[in-house]
Amino acid sequence: MTKPANNSNHEHMLLRTNLKLLRLPTVSSEFEKLAREAAGANQSFEQYLLRLTELEVAARQSNALRARIKNATFPVVKDLDTFDFSAIASLNKQKVVELMRPGWIDEHFNACLVGNSGTGKTHVALGLALAACRAGKRVRFLTAASLVNQLESAQKQYQLERFLAKLEKVDLLVCDELGYLSFSRTGAELLFQVFAERYERRSVMITSNLPFGEWGQVFQGERMTAALLDRFTHRCHIFEMNGPSYRFKESVKNAKARKKP
Ligand code: ADP
Ligand code: MG
Repeated sequence: MTKPANNSNHEHMLLRTNLKLLRLPTVSSEFEKLAREAAGANQSFEQYLLRLTELEVAARQSNALRARIKNATFPVVKDLDTFDFSAIASLNKQKVVELMRPGWIDEHFNACLVGNSGTGKTHVALGLALAACRAGKRVRFLTAASLVNQLESAQKQYQLERFLAKLEKVDLLVCDELGYLSFSRTGAELLFQVFAERYERRSVMITSNLPFGEWGQVFQGERMTAALLDRFTHRCHIFEMNGPSYRFKESVKNAKARKKP
């Protein structure tokens, strides 16, 4: 009686070792429980194996999504299901919903959300970028100021090539809040270089409080601005988001609610 038990112990250990070598942690942690369930339910070997591999695939997909979201460096994770489209009449909901599918990123289109402060540009950009992560795309979300800072400091440390190579791997680069701060000449040139290199090869999404006609303030110099706008807007989904500030409306509503007895 002891011999078979030892044998099965040995087999058990070998199996665990193999599953570790094959990097199948979910199969390793679940196979015993599922085997008992399969025996109880009179399942075939194929059914058992299918269930087990399904769990491994699901765990792997959810880990990969978590890693993509982490690498995207979102300031907060926001979904479009919490966005109230009725609050901003100038925004075409249908078009936004279309961009939740990753086709535009596959075609290396750009997107631009332009409008005054507090109208939900960052929220929509975050929602679209999250949808891209869910569709398996590599995303990076940065404010324009932070992107320029990182470019400048990479250049100072002779790491620019490396930093640009990393950005190149990203399918969708989101550049939030272009226009609130203007850049040094070098900063503007570096940002221009990033956008120019991505032209027709990778997608860029920009949010800005400045209409295109005023982008010269950021990029200093009409020639560079014209060259940039020419490339950026060539294949670009443009969303105008002008309207009352949602932030402001919310604070008025909250203040009124506080006043009520
Ligand atoms: P912007 O980037 O245009 O300045 P934000 O996206 O930062 O505006 O929006 C300001 C705040 O209001 C955020 O907390 C955002 O989630 C919220 N918000 C803006 N518009 C909406 C909306 N239509 N539905 C729900 N929340 C909104
Ligand atoms: Mg914003």
